[in-house]
Amino acid sequence: MPDPKPCPVCRKPAAPKPLAPFCSERCRQVDLGRWLTEAYVVPGPPAGEETEAD
Ligand SMILES: [Zn+2]
Repeated sequence: MPDPKPCPVCRKPAAPKPLAPFCSERCRQVDLGRWLTEAYVVPGPPAGEETEAD
């Protein structure tokens, strides 16, 4: 059996299934928060030219 991967947030040993690959519910939420933050930072395709259309 391969070694379980560590928690990507805090590097502690990950918890079993429902929480994996995280070590705790808290770390799961932290990772989810990062994901959402990045989604906000990257707005998608550039649409700057359309604002000038008049
Ligand atoms: Zn963790």
